[in-house]
Amino acid sequence: MKFSKLFIPTTKETPSDATLPSHQFLLRAGFISTSGSGLYNYLPLGKIVLDKIRNVVKEELDNSGAHEVQLSFVTPIEFWENSGRASKMGLEMLRIKDRKNNGFVLSPTNEEAMVELVKNRVTSYKDLPLNLYQINTKFRDEARPRFGLMRGREFLMKDGYSFHSDVEDMRREFHLMEETYKKIFARLGLDFRIVDADSGAIGGTGSKEFHVLADSGEDTIVVCDSCNYGANIEAAKRVPRQIGEKQTLQSGKVHTPDTKTIEELSAFLQILPSQTIKAVIKKAIYEDVTKVAVFFVRGDDELEETKACNSINALELVDISEDAIVEAGLVAGYVGIKELPSNVIFKIDSELKDENDMVCGANEAHYHLAGIDVCCMGDDVYFDLIAVKEGDICECCGGKLSYTKGIEVGHIFQLGDKYSKALGANFLDNNGKSKPFEMGTYGIGVSRLIAATIEQSHDEKGCIWTKETAPFFVDIIISNGKNEEELEAGTKIYEELKSAGIEVVLDDRVKERFGFKMGDFELIGFPYAVVVGKKLQEGLVELVNRKTGENEDIALSDIVEAIKTK
Ligand code: ATP
Ligand code: MG
Repeated sequence: MKFSKLFIPTTKETPSDATLPSHQFLLRAGFISTSGSGLYNYLPLGKIVLDKIRNVVKEELDNSGAHEVQLSFVTPIEFWENSGRASKMGLEMLRIKDRKNNGFVLSPTNEEAMVELVKNRVTSYKDLPLNLYQINTKFRDEARPRFGLMRGREFLMKDGYSFHSDVEDMRREFHLMEETYKKIFARLGLDFRIVDADSGAIGGTGSKEFHVLADSGEDTIVVCDSCNYGANIEAAKRVPRQIGEKQTLQSGKVHTPDTKTIEELSAFLQILPSQTIKAVIKKAIYEDVTKVAVFFVRGDDELEETKACNSINALELVDISEDAIVEAGLVAGYVGIKELPSNVIFKIDSELKDENDMVCGANEAHYHLAGIDVCCMGDDVYFDLIAVKEGDICECCGGKLSYTKGIEVGHIFQLGDKYSKALGANFLDNNGKSKPFEMGTYGIGVSRLIAATIEQSHDEKGCIWTKETAPFFVDIIISNGKNEEELEAGTKIYEELKSAGIEVVLDDRVKERFGFKMGDFELIGFPYAVVVGKKLQEGLVELVNRKTGENEDIALSDIVEAIKTK
């Protein structure tokens, strides 16, 4: 491809709303352009990268035995009503009406549609297992579309769905998908980590996420320094913490004026914060009601909101106003586990179970209760609610846990029969009995992978693509576009590389100076440049490595071979 003929509108200006390097560089280097909030156009370079990633995903999935299909992007609202998700999906799911006033949805995911496709077509255990996938547009009306391709409203996702006659076979496929995803992300040249995950709104039992490690990642991942354990903080576990020595306090109500915080309380009573119980009050949102929820954790632990939300099966937890706290009959700063108002739901962190001699609020202003034994509450009030901290102990090996940041690029779920049951999708088993399918579901953020690649691999000058993702492998830069000899030599290298099957672009622009072309090379981030310039007189060209910045003079006659070895 010749640069002069390509549509690559590079620019020096950094868009004001673009904070992440990937967002800035992809716009500035002319890979994408913004068409609306969370909506992007792919320009030629962006489309090449998108298709490359898509092809790697497709090749590995096809190798695993999955079959590609393509479902309609617009789906009837009935699908979503039948599964019960029409209300659960909330505002993220964009609904539209046609001219006949029929309801439709711009698909945010496709569990329902895929079950509808398979239902009544696959009817016997003999037709199972089956794994169908698509690489298709999704739309989610994200509350905060940001970071460019990282969190768009319209984006490209690979979504796969597998159907099985029993749980065991579903688990086999889940492991196969885990291995397949590893191959995909390794081929893309990414540094990634597989972690235990929360299953979120999609539901199901086991689930794992694939994270590209990058400082800008939105997710906190807990990893073990000594073994392979990794988990999203939303699902991370630890060995129950050893706590410091407790003071023996006289049981009963204690006057604790102006001690609303754990720090104030522990200082006042001269005890460690770990001997206190902290109450976190939230508003819990359900499909048609809201409730006041209180979560109790040890004084020096923090609440993990996703765990808390799951513990009470709410759709979402939000901050609660001071008025609403009072209205619920609670006294902020003095909420305790005994005698809570009956309209308030509550859960207690499992690590507090059977703890003695604790201090918690007395549900009365300026009073706490001392000598509290956390017992006899019924097993269903205890739940893992805490956010694992750095330095906590790994459950698997006793090693130390620490944090790292990740970008979620894939998520695989053991779904079970949740959707097949709800939508009446059954098959006949080997005894002639009708059963709902056991299902797995598997997602990859194809367009997000473009951004994740650059978050992991860039410098202050621009993008640094990996071999598999680079739009072109080599950029041949003609130092002076008007110099016939340079152009001739460059074109010859270009033709030879092309014949050797190497993806190459020839920067033959006449008007642009060398510095400008070099700047574009660095901004766009092709892995190598061949500079054809003044040294041509001595029979030399320069080979530049974008990642390391190294350059070496190479004889004109050797350059094609030199690139082939890269
Ligand atoms: P997140 O937690 O980042 O919002 P999610 O858990 O809602 O993602 P899934 O439903 O698991 O996402 O979707 C599968 C994959 O699609 C994700 O792993 C992610 O890579 C990608 N993805 C999800 N939302 C977006 C988005 N708004 N823009 C781009 N990619 C997305
Ligand atoms: Mg997910």
